[in-house]
Amino acid sequence: MGVGLAYHLGHEGWGDGTVLLEKAELTSGSTWHAAGQITHSTSSFGLGKCVDYNIGLYSGGLEAETGQPVTWHGCGSFRLAYTEDEMDWLRHTLSVGRSLGFNIELVGPEKVAELHPFYNLDGVLGALHTPDDGHVDPTNVTMALAAGARQKGVQIIRQCRATNITQLPSGEWQVETDKGTITCEHVVNAGGTYARQMGEWSGLQLPMTSMTHHYFVTEPVPEFEAL
Ligand SMILES: Cc1cc2nc3c(=O)[nH]c(=O)nc-3n(C[C@H](O)[C@H](O)[C@H](O)COP(=O)(O)OP(=O)(O)OC[C@H]3O[C@@H](n4cnc5c(N)ncnc54)[C@H](O)[C@@H]3O)c2cc1C
Repeated sequence: MGVGLAYHLGHEGWGDGTVLLEKAELTSGSTWHAAGQITHSTSSFGLGKCVDYNIGLYSGGLEAETGQPVTWHGCGSFRLAYTEDEMDWLRHTLSVGRSLGFNIELVGPEKVAELHPFYNLDGVLGALHTPDDGHVDPTNVTMALAAGARQKGVQIIRQCRATNITQLPSGEWQVETDKGTITCEHVVNAGGTYARQMGEWSGLQLPMTSMTHHYFVTEPVPEFEAL
């Protein structure tokens, strides 16, 4: 989120004077853990527009602009339903996707089997198929956005921890860090899982909480590789 915003501020002409602080190394937060899947299957109009824009950026000009590989892999995806309630949610997501003009369809298990023979389809009632989805290596995307931001004059300071944010009587903001203090017109809190604590420094109560997320990583599966 931090480099993404810095990149876009740079493209809006705000590069000079924009500073991004990172307490460790870029991607050392949640981004490092992400699988990097990007799907049009979202039931939110706003999020859907963001996702579609990002897919365009990652599969389009970002790599050429920055010289940094983005590793976009456009493989499409399925979202499965096992119950009637989940089917209702898929239909809702379908209607949001259609209103946004996305390439999205509701299919039966036989279509999933045809396109992806390794799915276990026991109990599957249907699926949303979104052929324009894909995945990226989040680290590469972050580095590409950072390179694009720097090209537009954004300063990225790594190993620099923000320790407090307060508003001055002038309306400006004072950001204290372990390397000194910055006074600025605007502050954006892109602290990821720490964003709630960072908001509390200036009296904000952000309704956020970190959630547990489970995943596993396998060795290469020869049947998938062959496909
Ligand atoms: C296991 C897992 C799998 C996921 N898979 C997907 C997926 O497939 N697709 C998807 O879209 N999303 C996925 N996500 C969610 C995604 O990773 C996050 O939504 C996203 O990375 C959040 O980015 P962020 O920039 O908000 O936060 P972060 O990446 O956490 O960045 C916040 C940064 O702020 C820095 N920071 C914190 N405090 C300070 C401070 N005081 N001073 C200076 N710097 C500070 C941190 O070091 C960090 O680098 C997954 C998440 C996990 C955990």
